[in-house]
Amino acid sequence: MDVLRIYVGGTWIAPSGDATMPITDPATEERIGTVALASPADVDHAVNAATEAFRSFGTWSKAERLALLRRIRALTAERIKDLAQAMSREMGAPITMAREMQAEAGVGHADGFIEALEAQEESWTLSNGDTLLREPIGPAGLITPWNWPINQIALKVLPALATGCPAILKPSEYTPLSAAIYAEILHEAGVPPGAFALINGTGPVVGDALARHPGLAMVSFTGSTRAGISVSKSAADSVKRVTLELGGKSPNLVFADCGPDLETRVRASVAECFLNSGQSCDAPTRLVVERACYDDVVEIARMAAEETRIGDPRAEGDHIGPLFDRLQWDRVQERIAQGIAEGARLVAGGPGRPEGINRGWYARPTIFADVRNDMTIAREEIFGPVLSILAACDEEDAIAIANDTLYGLAAYIQTGDPERARRVAARLRAGAVHVNGGGLGCGTPFGGYKASGNGREGGTMGLEDYQEVKSLHFG
Ligand code: NDP
Repeated sequence: MDVLRIYVGGTWIAPSGDATMPITDPATEERIGTVALASPADVDHAVNAATEAFRSFGTWSKAERLALLRRIRALTAERIKDLAQAMSREMGAPITMAREMQAEAGVGHADGFIEALEAQEESWTLSNGDTLLREPIGPAGLITPWNWPINQIALKVLPALATGCPAILKPSEYTPLSAAIYAEILHEAGVPPGAFALINGTGPVVGDALARHPGLAMVSFTGSTRAGISVSKSAADSVKRVTLELGGKSPNLVFADCGPDLETRVRASVAECFLNSGQSCDAPTRLVVERACYDDVVEIARMAAEETRIGDPRAEGDHIGPLFDRLQWDRVQERIAQGIAEGARLVAGGPGRPEGINRGWYARPTIFADVRNDMTIAREEIFGPVLSILAACDEEDAIAIANDTLYGLAAYIQTGDPERARRVAARLRAGAVHVNGGGLGCGTPFGGYKASGNGREGGTMGLEDYQEVKSLHFG
């Protein structure tokens, strides 16, 4: 399962240096392959190829770009199983979820972008007689993380190609297997040489070289707020456009008016928080609960956590798998210890591996109650199966706690009162508000307020991130 080549100029080549990194299976801790790491010289090579490709690819008609997206969509659908297997091995996503959610995102986003591109006007006239044109911004550097590998890659590569921008992708070097399959799909779909490159490498070396490169018109980054700030600073000298999809500490407001649905809503909330072993930027990790139902909610959440199944990513089912690497397991353990030290009440889970499991980077589904919003576990992204429960006196207090965060990616509301849902949603400072389990469809813009980033991925707004607007004035 080695990935020893990078894809540049339409062919697979060896990177210029000899650095490598092991690919490990987080369920067994075993090495399953090696990934070769690229250097800034490889980035220069890819940027030169992209610059050359842009001369013609940047002029492709909408019909040609749509035809390309449709081929990519069809080939992605054919390779769902391969993509799912790859992600399951490299980052531990349980195979059912890897197939139905992680890999399917590649198809769903393709549908979303095809529909958006079909509908987009690329030229129109204003009432003052001036004409506006949408044009591709130019070659783009794309940096993606390990938690939803194909979802994040599709959300960046597809709009770049849809708008005529050559794309240079640096996926997380922890998840090179799925990225390599995606590159094969793009090759087979007929992406012209240079219009797509896949460069494996580390963030501080290859990611930073992309962010700094004067030959790129933009960089799109998904990952931690820390790395996003670093990317923005590195990009500043070349005045390139920067779009960021960063962390979150999303509140989930639970009101006593859920009535008989309370148990269903709380169980679904816990499941959503633990999905992908808690490694999702928009996970609802702060359960902000109205006092009137607080004790009931803590008890339901405890049962839900204790009933959460944990298991081998290779087995079909709705269990959760391990964290993606020892690195993340250590980070999550540190946060659990911090929660205990800060005085939060541990009601389920806790430190260490789940009972009966003695290898693999599995964490225990953990619930803390009586969390105060100034505790580290309420402020910092944990990125593991850890839920913090906070009490709120009333609606006003719940909104204040929800908004008292650096982040603003998503928010969730559980209520039996549609009026309240609208009223509260309007006051939450977040890019998406999910009411009573409502999910985000492909094609809907996704992105955050505040330290959760800028720009929107998906659909029409996702295309616009990769476009310039030119005004034409006729005398
Ligand atoms: P990072 O943000 O460090 O990594 C995400 C991607 O950015 C990787 O490809 C990484 O490469 C790259 N990168 C890192 N530093 C730089 C840099 N200076 N310039 C350019 N690219 C860079 O996340 P981690 O994997 O370290 O995870 C840390 C925490 O970040 C998690 O615990 C979680 O809280 C959060 N996170 C949030 C994500 C989200 O979807 N919003 C996704 C992943 C993590 P490399 O792997 O070599 O560092």
